[in-house]
Amino acid sequence: MVIVGAGLAGARASAELREAGFDGPITLIAGEPHAPYDRPPLSKAVLLKEKSPDDCALFGATFFADHAIDLKLAANAVEIDRADRAVLLDNGERIGYSRLLIATGASPRLLSIPGSELPGVVTLRTVGDARDLAVRLHHGQHVAIIGGGFIGLEVAASAIAAGCGVTVIEAGERLLMRAVPPEIAARIEARHRDAGVQFRFGAQLTAIVGERAAEGVRFADGEVIRCDTVVVGIGAAPRTALAQAAGLDVADGIVVDDRLCTSDSAIFAAGDACSFPHPLYGCRVRLECWKNAEDQGRIAARNMLGENLRYREVPWFWSDQYELSIQIAGLPAFGRETVMRETADTLLLFHLSADGSLVAASGIGRAVGRDIRIAQMLIGRNARISAEELANPSVKLKALLVAEAA
Ligand code: FAD
Ligand code: NAP
Repeated sequence: MVIVGAGLAGARASAELREAGFDGPITLIAGEPHAPYDRPPLSKAVLLKEKSPDDCALFGATFFADHAIDLKLAANAVEIDRADRAVLLDNGERIGYSRLLIATGASPRLLSIPGSELPGVVTLRTVGDARDLAVRLHHGQHVAIIGGGFIGLEVAASAIAAGCGVTVIEAGERLLMRAVPPEIAARIEARHRDAGVQFRFGAQLTAIVGERAAEGVRFADGEVIRCDTVVVGIGAAPRTALAQAAGLDVADGIVVDDRLCTSDSAIFAAGDACSFPHPLYGCRVRLECWKNAEDQGRIAARNMLGENLRYREVPWFWSDQYELSIQIAGLPAFGRETVMRETADTLLLFHLSADGSLVAASGIGRAVGRDIRIAQMLIGRNARISAEELANPSVKLKALLVAEAA
């Protein structure tokens, strides 16, 4: 069993292979020089200096040795020889496989305006990126953040906590245009404004300015905002080059079926890198979130061993900013009607399809986890619940779940 990519999906798959009783050889090829680690803390606890990068390891120091998993650090797979069933590494090594998992994840989109290569223009994806950025965030520094998505907003909250001045520059007319509904985005924006974050919407940047390092960003109208660091958080692209060069089907991600198998029956793909058919939404999706990578890593491993498991988890992700938790279950874009439920400290939105079934729920507040978890179960059951009950905070969601099951 060979796995390319030792992020969450790849590392989880390697562990699952052993958990499932596989006792043959497993090779886990990690492009990065670090043992597998978790990315979510990088924009939150690590930048807030509540956690060191070393605390983000996914497994204990001896896990891979203890489980006879051959973890190859700082080794990049450069070619898949499908005819011979082998993976070639950049150090010349050739590793044969009977089953291969591609879990190459995604990489940050880069800016292509003049000055983008200047020191001080950074992205955040790896533990090394987080270490470098953490050093830059201290009192009196000004940080320009390009992109009002998850990276941008989580970094903004961390930078504010570190005493920095922060400007978020977003090309769209509001925050998180694709990921969260406008009512939730408005609450997020208001909380950031309260904390002192400045926003520029509908902004077009023409250059990063600076002599030897970034000193500011220039807008299309010529205005320049001074800053010491530019954080680029303008989205991520799936890492598909290896799969594409091997002739596998690729279309916004490595194309897999509902068992996470690619167009080659010996090769599977999982996590941010893959595009899969979602039975609840009747179309292909590619998700960039922790739970998806975790669940797909497990399912892919089982199917590599000959099981026949379908992937049909309801999508779920979270973001933490300040004291706020933002959680989304399902895909809000598939909703046609939105029902709002508001309490003193939370806002929940339920997204219903044209036929009245619950397709997604979004929440923001101090404690939305429980309700979103229940909503996730209702979504998985294609539940149809009246808008009146969903809107009424005195009707417990748990009761709706019990009633639905009856
Ligand atoms: P990745 O984690 O990208 O791992 C892929 C690995 O493959 C990388 O280490 C890469 O170097 C390696 N690789 C690529 N090509 C090769 C090759 N040819 N050879 C060898 N190795 C290769 N999600 C949430 O739901 N909630 C959050 O709060 C949240 N916070 C996040 C914060 C940050 C800063 C980031 C960056 C992401 C966050 N996410 C969050 C998203 C979540 O972490 C990702 O969806 C998840 O890590 C995807 O896992 P993956 O294994 O598919 O890919
Ligand atoms: P993202 O969430 O896709 O947000 C990128 C934002 O930048 C979008 O609002 C985008 O607008 C905007 N944008 C694009 N080009 C721009 C430009 N030239 N100038 C200004 N704004 C621009 O991506 P991200 O925040 O960079 O996150 C990267 C990856 O990390 C993703 O995989 C994400 O899921 C993951 N991550 C997840 C979490 C979480 O789930 N909590 C936290 C951190 C990171 P358009 O949408 O209009 O293009």
